[in-house]
Amino acid sequence: MKIFLANPRGFCAGVEMAIRCLEIVVERVPAPIFVYHEIVHNQHVVRQFEGRGVVFVESVREVPVGATLVFSAHGVSPAIREEAKSRKLQTIDATCPLVAKVHTETVRFAQLGYHIILIGHAGHDEIMGTIGEAPESITLVERVEDVENLSFASDEKLAYLTQTTLSVDETRRIIERLVDRFPNIEGPPKDDICYATQNRQQAVRKLASLVDVLLVVGSQNSSNSRRLCEVASDYGTSAHLLDDDRQLDARWFSNDSVVGVTAGASAPEVSVQSVVSWLRNRYPTDEVSVVGSDEANRSFPLPSEVVRLKSIRS
Ligand code: SF4
Repeated sequence: MKIFLANPRGFCAGVEMAIRCLEIVVERVPAPIFVYHEIVHNQHVVRQFEGRGVVFVESVREVPVGATLVFSAHGVSPAIREEAKSRKLQTIDATCPLVAKVHTETVRFAQLGYHIILIGHAGHDEIMGTIGEAPESITLVERVEDVENLSFASDEKLAYLTQTTLSVDETRRIIERLVDRFPNIEGPPKDDICYATQNRQQAVRKLASLVDVLLVVGSQNSSNSRRLCEVASDYGTSAHLLDDDRQLDARWFSNDSVVGVTAGASAPEVSVQSVVSWLRNRYPTDEVSVVGSDEANRSFPLPSEVVRLKSIRS
């Protein structure tokens, strides 16, 4: 067997910041700590925090008045912030700055009188937060075919924005169709699909032609992990999305398989290594090779509430 590891893979700067943020809150604030939605979309990460007493909630009403509530990396709408305020919650905002950037663009376009075509997946935490910034001014588009159903007057001021974790190729096709239909439509000053999503997809493009099967380490509800499977499928390479070695199936491999391994932006390296160890323990394997190029080191600052928490309590 040959094993190729994608580079880059796994944690992005936004996920690292959100996890670090919650770790500090868990260390410094008396339990229970509540988190609105999963802090990041990864079962391993969520279970670890649950083991430390963190309670993940789907609604602000589940949080006792006056308790501490952390907003996840995916961001929340102004209505959720208001609800938390009315319950007198101590809130800590672990929203990734690149998601916050899309919120800012949404507000700016809406205030300038644009109607916004938001490209993304209905029901995703990030999309619900972004739509909540200007619900009257947003139409969600998920596929190229959805563009055909849009009916705006030719003089309507239109802009498009996107979720941060989409397929680069599919999004390009949607934007091209939008520009075909509405030549005056405006876009964001800078790409909304984040650097981590783009770089991980680029590494999979390099890997897909080299391998028989691609293993994507990540959870089922992780948008950027699912997109990595789709990129591999676009190249005709079969791909499996799995949390860790416990979901591997020997029927996917033979002794001379060429296997690629990557990980979504919220999947920890320990899960990747569990997959590699499982393979190496079962099949005669050459040295594990790395494919792709290094990602520039990025880090995002902790939210000011957490910095304050550190300075007050240390
Ligand atoms: Fe931020 Fe991108 Fe990571 Fe999401 S995937 S947390 S947008 S850096």
